[in-house]
Amino acid sequence: MVCLTFYGGVNEIGGNKILLEDGDARIFLDFGQSFTMGVDYFTGWLGPRGINGLGDYFEFGLLPKIRGLYTAEQLRFTDLLYEEPQFDGVFLSHAHVDHVNHIQFLHPKIPLYLGIGTKLFLEAMEKTSSFCDYGKHRYRTFRTGDKIKVGDLVVEPVHVDHSIPAAYGFLIHTSEGTVVYTGDLRAHGPRRDMTEDFMDKARKSEPVAMICEGTRMVEEERRKNYSEEQVAKLSRKIVSSTDKMVFVTHYSRDMDRFRSMYNAAKKNDRKIVVSPKTAHLMARLLEDKRLDLPDPLKDNEILVYYKRKKSGEFDERDYYVWEREFMDRMVTYEFVRENQGGLLMDLDFYQFAELIDIRPDPGSHFIHSMSEPYSEEDIEDIVMHNWLEHFKMRFHQLHASGHMDRQQITDLSNYINPKKLFPIHTENPQLFKKTCNNVQTVGYGNEYTL
Ligand SMILES: [Zn+2]
Repeated sequence: MVCLTFYGGVNEIGGNKILLEDGDARIFLDFGQSFTMGVDYFTGWLGPRGINGLGDYFEFGLLPKIRGLYTAEQLRFTDLLYEEPQFDGVFLSHAHVDHVNHIQFLHPKIPLYLGIGTKLFLEAMEKTSSFCDYGKHRYRTFRTGDKIKVGDLVVEPVHVDHSIPAAYGFLIHTSEGTVVYTGDLRAHGPRRDMTEDFMDKARKSEPVAMICEGTRMVEEERRKNYSEEQVAKLSRKIVSSTDKMVFVTHYSRDMDRFRSMYNAAKKNDRKIVVSPKTAHLMARLLEDKRLDLPDPLKDNEILVYYKRKKSGEFDERDYYVWEREFMDRMVTYEFVRENQGGLLMDLDFYQFAELIDIRPDPGSHFIHSMSEPYSEEDIEDIVMHNWLEHFKMRFHQLHASGHMDRQQITDLSNYINPKKLFPIHTENPQLFKKTCNNVQTVGYGNEYTL
């Protein structure tokens, strides 16, 4: 008997935590944090207390109360009894927060299976963020083509295209047949061939069930979405149309987007300016040869922007050790100010104060290469536009989603044709019923037998 229980990603986008049990074998598919976790109880500086371990999370039902999953330390102040680990592994589909963040609570004896690139992402995040600590784990890396035996289960990771490298879906071969898990995926990125590969393998396995993401399963899409190719083309056009500064902001882990912007700069004889954090991430990702990224220490097209810190004199000692690695490539606000027409600069919203030092000429460009805000009252969006207006900069919205749209999800599920379809990672699971077959919507913590 095979059972599926959903402890996250239920009626919401993200937070996937799916338990699959087959006889004695018990694995989790992803162990992420929901984007809206705890928003009803925590805000601003009011957050769960570290000292109370999982206590503050259990109080509001923010993590499942399951024995044999967490460390004794995390359970110290809770009413959940500590037991030795009773799980054979957690399989991570990719390194986005909503798929990995809660591994910090997992017992270190439970093996974590993940792509080589995903491990590099986790390490880079721990290194460059003072808030990020995933804890100690037994990491076991995999590649497409591997077949991982866990008890009587065989798990087959298959690469997919998503807005982060090293993203995978899984075929889990169980005693009742194959269960397919899509992870997050799209078919309009530069590696759509990988998603097609996944779809073919999934279809051939004649799955008894498919757990399918539905981020963009919406009645009507109001936001403009491009393909990555279009984003690349349109950003090239913006850069070639001006002799002024061009700034861009995008998700730091989206390496396809980095490549699009890198090429837009290169084709227009500009250099790309990145933060030490991005440079560090890229340098680490070089270890995964298949990702084929430029080396920030060797590539002359890349410059690294150092902010004023501590002494204000750009002294080596002002910066973290991991930041110092790129000081040979250092540029400061003065260089950027004097070379505006020759640069394309990565500038995160939280680094906007640098604009005061850089003083971009009026008419400079800003490409917002991220999702549009959900609401018109989005505070950060309002503040961002105030800054752009203050410096008389021109705004462009250019983004390609990491997810399939409604039609593509429908085509995917009809092509793979599972005996049962469990929609997750979506606010609209009921919409699947309109266009897909054999849909079983899920409730939080409910067990579904195959
Ligand atoms: Zn994702």
